[in-house]
Amino acid sequence: MAHLGLHCPSCNHPTSEVKDSRPNEHGIRRRRVCTGCNQRFTTLEVIATNPDVAQELADTSRRNSVAMRIRRITESLETLLDEFHRA
Ligand SMILES: [Zn+2]
Repeated sequence: MAHLGLHCPSCNHPTSEVKDSRPNEHGIRRRRVCTGCNQRFTTLEVIATNPDVAQELADTSRRNSVAMRIRRITESLETLLDEFHRA
């Protein structure tokens, strides 16, 4: 599993507590609470070997901040793949 850059979206604190964790069709959705400012936020962890799913999610819900995070993962995966192919 690739996990998202888990800095708090509110204060950028690097750690959070997982309050709830439930799998869905694309990955695992986790409800988190920032240990810095107590901001609640949700992350969706997507299986790293399936960037197509991540891209599809990003395309279908661009305004969703979770999808934006997923798109960032997809981009970093593409970068990694590029580097891998060049190696
Ligand atoms: Zn925070």
